[in-house]
Amino acid sequence: MALAGQCQMPRLSKVNLFTLFSLWMELFPSSEQQKKSQVKCLQLVHNYLSDNEKKPSLRMGLPIVVKNMKIIGLHCSSTDLHAGQIALIKHGSRLKNCDLYFSRKPCSTCLKMIVNAGVNRISYWPADPEISLQNEVSSPMTTDDAKLDAKAVERLKSNSRARVCVLLQPLVCYMMQFVEETSTKFDFIQKIAKSQPDSNTDFYTTCRQERIKEYESLFLISNEETHKQILMTIGLENLCENPYFSNLRQNMKDLVLVLATVAASVPVFGCFGFYNSESWQANETDHQGLSQEIARHCMIQARLLAYRTEDHKTGVGAIIWAEEKSRSCDGTGPMYFVGCGYNAFPVGSEYADFPHMDDKQKDREIRKFRYIIHAEQNALTFRCREIKPDERSMIFVTKCPCDECVPLIKGAGIKQIYAGDVDAGKKKADISYMKFGELEGVSKFTWQLNPLHTNALDFHEPTARESKSFFINSFYD
Ligand SMILES: [Zn+2]
Ligand SMILES: [Zn+2]
Repeated sequence: MALAGQCQMPRLSKVNLFTLFSLWMELFPSSEQQKKSQVKCLQLVHNYLSDNEKKPSLRMGLPIVVKNMKIIGLHCSSTDLHAGQIALIKHGSRLKNCDLYFSRKPCSTCLKMIVNAGVNRISYWPADPEISLQNEVSSPMTTDDAKLDAKAVERLKSNSRARVCVLLQPLVCYMMQFVEETSTKFDFIQKIAKSQPDSNTDFYTTCRQERIKEYESLFLISNEETHKQILMTIGLENLCENPYFSNLRQNMKDLVLVLATVAASVPVFGCFGFYNSESWQANETDHQGLSQEIARHCMIQARLLAYRTEDHKTGVGAIIWAEEKSRSCDGTGPMYFVGCGYNAFPVGSEYADFPHMDDKQKDREIRKFRYIIHAEQNALTFRCREIKPDERSMIFVTKCPCDECVPLIKGAGIKQIYAGDVDAGKKKADISYMKFGELEGVSKFTWQLNPLHTNALDFHEPTARESKSFFINSFYD
């Protein structure tokens, strides 16, 4: 089915987006994961870890959203600190009147401090809470603790002015189909497909299935009874009755499916990744590339943002991160969030204010391109932190930055661009992409085969699981 181009595109709601971000932040590559994966370009981090290491005992995602619905921080728990504690360290009293989205119901240690800071609302994903209630059988002692903590959380909740709630919105009609369709067609997938015999995208289906399995086991509770018991313990007995319960589960499942589908569109596949083909900046630290895991993670954030687009033809997402000089307490290491955006009409405009025609319509006067604000432009405009000249800052864009945006990115002092390059060097009717290739002073990491790994035997040591699922055909043939 072909949805794109037909009519208005389905959009993610802001609440959907924030919920997906909170789940996704839980999967931010930890420093241990990165160390393990530095060995070679190929290793699949998730397969590489034992099951025990994979369990995110305390990992928790948390974007913070200010009152006017803008993200001002993206965090996740670290070895020493919970996500709620990190939010407090990072934002302090600025948390006042903020909305917080958690990937798990926070524990009492976090909640008391957040409530005390005067937040407006705390929304959480209604599966296993931060202090897990799921392993009742294996460790009854911890469960006692977990139950006591759940009680304390309820007490804090009922005595606080902040709303502690489950804020889940169902996806709009056709959203899932649209995400599937656009993910398969996404430039990165198409680039890999071209390197495959007969341009097939089977690898994408396999990769997506793996992501679905993995994220379902992380974010959903497969057993309905267990899920009900957990909801009961955390004060959500209202949601245990049908149709609420089945709706809730369906809703959660759909969101996990969207996340897995989008994540699979920037896949861990062979030696594909974000690489720089130029040599002029190799020695400067500002221009050294991020680990592939982090780059992929941030690009997937940008991909999620693209589903908030107001452009009925092409959704684009952009997100800016920077790196502090000193290592931070955050689960994101020294990386901190600067700003994000998607392509849209100017803030405050109504649908009918501007033309929505694209370059296929003949009359240049009624085309949209002079009015639409690009994803990079919105990310820069609504950033919540300054871009510091002495820090490594980077922008992740789902598409090649156009000639309007390239000088803006450079002028803003951003050091690195991670993007696709399918349009680079092209001139389209209304928009051209000539400046990206010539850009100097900003490093460009584009989605491609690792240029250093040209020998097929050099790069690949399959693990048992990997060889089963990927690499059915060697793409180096
Ligand atoms: Zn906590
Ligand atoms: Zn642009």
